[in-house]
Amino acid sequence: MKTIKVSVVTPDGPVYESDVEMVSVKAESGELGILPGHIPMVAPLQISAVRLKNGGKTEFVAVSGGLLEVRPEQVSILAQAAEVSEDIDVERALKAKERAEQRLREQKQDNIDFRRAELALQRAINRINVAGK
Ligand code: ATP
Repeated sequence: MKTIKVSVVTPDGPVYESDVEMVSVKAESGELGILPGHIPMVAPLQISAVRLKNGGKTEFVAVSGGLLEVRPEQVSILAQAAEVSEDIDVERALKAKERAEQRLREQKQDNIDFRRAELALQRAINRINVAGK
């Protein structure tokens, strides 16, 4: 089966690099499946799981949003933070989730920190989900 090179990169360095048969992402506009030969494109991603399929095996990477770039020979995902499922510290994510929920309970909806807490909660839930895959 044909494969395409995929890399997931953060400001701290590369998190994932491999040749895969298919990449599935959650763009802002909805789910996208990318196979070798896909047309070039750029799309912003949701806080979500990236699914990488190869040789009957599926790997998962949690991304905190970011940008997907599809080029003829390579798919690149640039994100502020990203973790492969095995590297996720579930205890830490559970604590982050509790902190965010506490902040959301305390704050008024018009507070600018409310949005920040919502995003922190989404990141934590995403990490917990991806770690369980
Ligand atoms: P926390 O409050 O626990 O720091 P956060 O969502 O604010 O969570 P980020 O700012 O998204 O954290 O990430 C900061 C750095 O910590 C990134 O390098 C990210 O990959 C890493 N990181 C955050 N949470 C986890 C986790 N649960 N397991 C592994 N790495 C994590």
